[in-house]
Amino acid sequence: MRSASSGRAGGAPHDSRGARHPVTVMAEQMTDVFLDLGYRIVEGPEVEAEWFAFDALNMDDDHPGRTPGRAFHLEDPAEPGGRSGLVLRTRTSPAQVRAMLGRTPPLRLVCAGRAFRPDAADTIHSPVFNQVEGLAVDLGLTMVDLKKTLDHFAAAVFGRGTVTRLRTHRSAYTDPSAKVYVECAVCHGVREDVSEDAAGDAAAGPCGTCGGGGWIEWGWCGTVRPLVLTTCGVDPHRYGAFAFGVGVERTLMLRHGLKDISDIVGGDIRFPLGMDEFAPGGRPRPTPRPRSTATTRAVPAARAVPDLEIIPLARGGHGRRGPRGREAGGGLTRSQSLRRRIGHALAGAGYVETPRFPFVCDAAWDAFGLAPDDPRRATLTLTNPISPREPSLRTTLLPGLLAALGLNLALGNHYPALFEQGVVFAPRTGADPTLWPLADHRPTASRLDALNATVPAQPSHLAIALTGESSWARAVDTARTAAYVMGAGLITRPTEYAPWRPGRCLELLVGEAVLGHAGELHTATVQALGLPPGTSVMEIDLTALEHLTDQGGT
Ligand SMILES: [Zn+2]
Repeated sequence: MRSASSGRAGGAPHDSRGARHPVTVMAEQMTDVFLDLGYRIVEGPEVEAEWFAFDALNMDDDHPGRTPGRAFHLEDPAEPGGRSGLVLRTRTSPAQVRAMLGRTPPLRLVCAGRAFRPDAADTIHSPVFNQVEGLAVDLGLTMVDLKKTLDHFAAAVFGRGTVTRLRTHRSAYTDPSAKVYVECAVCHGVREDVSEDAAGDAAAGPCGTCGGGGWIEWGWCGTVRPLVLTTCGVDPHRYGAFAFGVGVERTLMLRHGLKDISDIVGGDIRFPLGMDEFAPGGRPRPTPRPRSTATTRAVPAARAVPDLEIIPLARGGHGRRGPRGREAGGGLTRSQSLRRRIGHALAGAGYVETPRFPFVCDAAWDAFGLAPDDPRRATLTLTNPISPREPSLRTTLLPGLLAALGLNLALGNHYPALFEQGVVFAPRTGADPTLWPLADHRPTASRLDALNATVPAQPSHLAIALTGESSWARAVDTARTAAYVMGAGLITRPTEYAPWRPGRCLELLVGEAVLGHAGELHTATVQALGLPPGTSVMEIDLTALEHLTDQGGT
């Protein structure tokens, strides 16, 4: 599938193969399952006020899930070492809280995005991971609706006929709650239920993927607790609500038989380039999986759930609104679809998407040659960083992307050209807990405003990093491509700005607004970072660019 296109992007003095990251593509495939069912994709801030992240989800102050062992807390800038009331969200659920507070039911929402937990990295844990969570609020929703929805989701992701199984679990957010298990893609769950009459099979030893149980933990689900609905302004006597969540990396690992999450998050471009399904021109698709009759026989409980393909969109007089069952105003937001288009355009131009962790070490700013008062040094600091070397949150994508560039060069990946679309974090003073609304009734608009004012701005940036002849001209061209995709004309103007090299740095402007910079890195910077001369980078503020083009700029 790849070979037909691998020779294009003619003339560039580099390996021209590009790719979006499999996690990005996987997350899109997962959310699109729900887009087709009329769900709306929502997002929320990654640095979140504790009230949205915990209190509103019924995780009170002594809940273990919000302790520094289980959540990254941000330092209060006024009191070093003190807690600010802001955290890196441990799940994407606060986006559901925000959505419920901002809309009236019925609701069908899917949140996709990054979440953070101070877990030590091993083969299945990463401190930064992606989630897809769903929420439905409507008249008369039950666990049966939830089960059908999960089975449809599993079938769309893992292949037709895949079913899920639920096992009771405790959760502050949902009750009843369950862990979601998906049928093992290797042994298809045959062994567990037919073992009594298939002694010969059992003698072959347990399945290496599921340990012989036939089911693998995929995520969680449950009925949203009435207290949470009340807090979010939804009448629990009138409406039912279910929620569920699964990890994107975990789904990718289960579907493609990957054994080590560090291959996914490590930054080696051979991983995205090696997954042909995700290459430009490749058609992303769920893996089809034939089912034997024996497999079907093994899961009678799942077979008893009728109409796997029918999700309850039309309950209680609500539902099918508009063409193809889409909720009015549903679908992708403009920024979501623009980000996808930019990702496709850059992968097509030979860039490999390389998402990086948002943690930075302050020494990076010295390598960049930033002045002591440069605003990029004003970072949000974690009270409990994974590593004392990286205690802060990034204000620019460049340190992480350049580290990945160095890693790929060290691995012998020739002429790597990397890109990342991700959020950066502006500093702001901490959230005052006295502002927090109570967690058992809907907060007033002014309380919500006060709370939101404490959450730092988190604009989306696009950055690229590459090496090779004329790389700086290519970096500038790439900025033009991104602006073009977003419907804006980009002007460039020579300037001097660290860490770019004087005479090889251009300001990127739309109208009079400076949105970013492109060019070749300063000689001192490449030396300090151990990168080859001629390394070039571009970074542009996509949120500002979108805002400008939104106002009818072009
Ligand atoms: Zn198995």
